[in-house]
Amino acid sequence: MLNTNESEIRLHGINVSPGICIGKAYLVGKEGVDVVDKYFISKENLQNEVKRFKSAVKRAKDKLQEIIETTPEELKQHIHILETHKVLYKDKMLYGKTVETIEKELVNAEWALKKVVSNVKKMFNSMPDPYLQGRMADIVHVSDSIMQNLIGAETLDIGAIGKRVILVAADLSPAETSQIQLEKIKGLITDFGGKTSHTGIIARTLEIPAVLGLEKATNLIKNDDIIIVDGTAGVVIVHPSDKTLIQFEEWQSNYERQKAVITRNSHLPAKTTDGVNLEVMGNIELPEEVVSVINYGGDGIGLYRTEFQYLNQRDFPDEHDLFDNYKDVVEVMAPNPVTIRTLDISGDKSVSYASNSDEKNPVLGLRGIRYCLKNPDVFKTQLRAVLRASAFGPVRILLPMISSHDEVLAAKKILNQAADSLDKENILFDENIEVGIMIEVPSAVIMADVMAKDVDFFSIGTNDLIQYSLAVDRVNRQVAHLYQPLNPAIIRMIKYVADIAKNQDVKVCMCGEMAGDPVNIPILLGLGINNLSMNPQSIPVIKRIIRALNVKDAAVLVKEVLKETSETGIMELLVEAYDNVLFDLGFSGL
Ligand code: PEP
Ligand code: MG
Repeated sequence: MLNTNESEIRLHGINVSPGICIGKAYLVGKEGVDVVDKYFISKENLQNEVKRFKSAVKRAKDKLQEIIETTPEELKQHIHILETHKVLYKDKMLYGKTVETIEKELVNAEWALKKVVSNVKKMFNSMPDPYLQGRMADIVHVSDSIMQNLIGAETLDIGAIGKRVILVAADLSPAETSQIQLEKIKGLITDFGGKTSHTGIIARTLEIPAVLGLEKATNLIKNDDIIIVDGTAGVVIVHPSDKTLIQFEEWQSNYERQKAVITRNSHLPAKTTDGVNLEVMGNIELPEEVVSVINYGGDGIGLYRTEFQYLNQRDFPDEHDLFDNYKDVVEVMAPNPVTIRTLDISGDKSVSYASNSDEKNPVLGLRGIRYCLKNPDVFKTQLRAVLRASAFGPVRILLPMISSHDEVLAAKKILNQAADSLDKENILFDENIEVGIMIEVPSAVIMADVMAKDVDFFSIGTNDLIQYSLAVDRVNRQVAHLYQPLNPAIIRMIKYVADIAKNQDVKVCMCGEMAGDPVNIPILLGLGINNLSMNPQSIPVIKRIIRALNVKDAAVLVKEVLKETSETGIMELLVEAYDNVLFDLGFSGL
């Protein structure tokens, strides 16, 4: 591949969709949209100017309708966002105010629209609520498309791009993202957006590598620049050196070869060589991700994080909205189970309408089950929705952040009240629904024997368990070196919980990131954790590793592991015993 002499630049962003792609940049500009002239309109021309604006709105809306009608089948599930945009074209704040500004100030339509949008932005910027920020992005997308018609700029027709390129944009509107055709677009990168942005979700659905939130990609990258997108690491390399290119081309072909082999077999069961079957399930945050879990051969949903539906709202979602969502997921996943975790908001996932105090230390504050017990109405609404969904397929309820036995009892009491209320209304639900708890606080580990009497399953949340046990903030880069899943203290805790679960006949699952890392699998297998849940893309890899291992050897390894006093020692044991297996499978990350 041709390389320029310009020096290599590495940009770091958010790894939104995994994989590597190398290719030419195609800048999706909004030329002219930001710089518009102001001029005055005579009274006689006023009606023409308003008409010109209305016709620009109509053309933008017609184009959107065309996009909605021609959206590829695999993206149809995202169309509701475009429908929202259709409504916004006639929004009073945008449409009404622009017409009013043209008429009152006798200015051209472009200027009036720009003024109105900049006022809306100012208003929204003073309210850092994620829901409102999302609505502001929608208004900007809609106004950009009107502006493009007004100034006669070429609107971007992603569907018409004739060569295989990597899209580079400040942000992509849902309408633009929905036109992506796999055979044309190798990957995409943007200045804004994150994991749960619409663009991110579509990139994952289409499985194209994507890095978002790069902040200055559009400033640094020009059309036809050669770029590398590493969607797994969240890195973009502009003007790669020949050495870098060769390295990434090799990684890319390894990645793709490995992915093809692994994915081909992803529907095979996760059965060890000595015949033990493990359940490998997926973690999801959005209903749309269910499809990935199925495609990657997941045996169910081991963790449905339900916060997202609360984070993107102006107010608490009502029972009906929640139920609709859960029912969709349950129906798509049936007959495999869906584990719905009740609200884990607050703490680091703060919701403006729900926070009632400034917490100095939110991670140790009113989060998860603590929040729900303090707000029983919010909790009961969610529980009723979960219970109702259980009439449509197997559902399990998972309670987060449990730190005492009393909390389990209190939560179950509210669950019973929710069930009684449905009974009274003759609404169907699964009367034997399984209830489990997250084991992610050290006190829950110590009290696991007591808790076991009142629950059907444990789900070990290592993300928080490591944070709380080792006193290491899970998002603080300064202490990231201390955040070690293989720390002997963590291994002993997992063993303690697994043993109690076995003795008391309670199922045990692991749904923290630790479960999705191939290196940890021999130890988890040896400890008797036979139900794992992880991000959907990791499922095929983990299932493949399991098929190459056997429980007997893993149990022998664990005996030795438990004698070690440091993670380095544990790692050395793993290298000695399993480097070959993991290396043969292409995971020599030890
Ligand atoms: C965990 O803590 O391991 C977990 C799965 O929950 P979350 O990452 O949502 O806190
Ligand atoms: Mg957690």
